[in-house]
Amino acid sequence: MNEIRRDYLLDRYVIVAENRGKRPYDYIQKAPPAKEKEGTCVFCPGNEHLTPPETGRIGGKGSKWLARAFYNKYPAVSPEFPKALGRHEVLVETPKHVAKMAALPEEQIAIGLELYAKRVHELYAEKGVACALIFKNEGAAAGISLTHTHSQLIALASAPRLVAEELKQYGEYRRKEKACPYCEVAEREGKSARKAFENEEFLAIAPYASRTPFELLILPKSHLANITELGEEERLLLARILKKSLARLDKMLNGPAFNYYLHIQPKGKDFHFHMELLPRLAIWAGFELGSGMYINPVAPEAAAKAYRGD
Ligand SMILES: [Zn+2]
Ligand SMILES: [Zn+2]
Ligand SMILES: [Zn+2]
Repeated sequence: MNEIRRDYLLDRYVIVAENRGKRPYDYIQKAPPAKEKEGTCVFCPGNEHLTPPETGRIGGKGSKWLARAFYNKYPAVSPEFPKALGRHEVLVETPKHVAKMAALPEEQIAIGLELYAKRVHELYAEKGVACALIFKNEGAAAGISLTHTHSQLIALASAPRLVAEELKQYGEYRRKEKACPYCEVAEREGKSARKAFENEEFLAIAPYASRTPFELLILPKSHLANITELGEEERLLLARILKKSLARLDKMLNGPAFNYYLHIQPKGKDFHFHMELLPRLAIWAGFELGSGMYINPVAPEAAAKAYRGD
């Protein structure tokens, strides 16, 4: 039976519509993987001079970096745009020329996460930056234009709408219930049929009101406001659950395109950071665009089960 579900915090609704006759494995991608563009990869070591100025790195000098950040060549926002102020950077998580994040060893993913944290830490020390959003587009349907895996960071003078709404609901819940809603989600959903994976510190769940088939929410079990609060060991645990989620998604559905993004605390605010991973499987059409609601033909419980492989 179909069911209208509300997001944990936001006024956002999803119609879980399993009656559309789709089974989880109907989403296996048939298209061959996108062809590699010919020519020099500007993200590879040795080509540092071909990128815009560097903003940060993990690793050694010259071409000996392990992860590297630089300005986006075609920024959406910039300190040079008086009417669109902000920062727009590219974060390359690996010197290795691979298209898929899931193909990296977890130690390398952890280095990528270290770069995320470093850039957030440094940007939050600057004036005019209030909130950073880090996101990854992987696969043609997710808007990728280069094949060397990478993410982007956009920092703005105020929190973007989704983060601002989560923060507002978070604050209201805290005041009313004297508890963190995300800590409670972790506690409750970690025991539910929507749990996909967990380790000592992190949990990956198919959210109750998933917008797309196989959406995942990855969140720390501890109350942590920002990725900058993770120590080396915790970063490795986040890398581990992220790799597991991505590798399973890749294998299960034959390398679908996806987006993920990090929701972290805007500067100086309390929050519970998390990652949201959305495979690009749903076709959002007139209804979604016109209503702000989503129709998801795969129940999150079925998605979690498929992730677990049981
Ligand atoms: Zn490359
Ligand atoms: Zn919390
Ligand atoms: Zn969020």
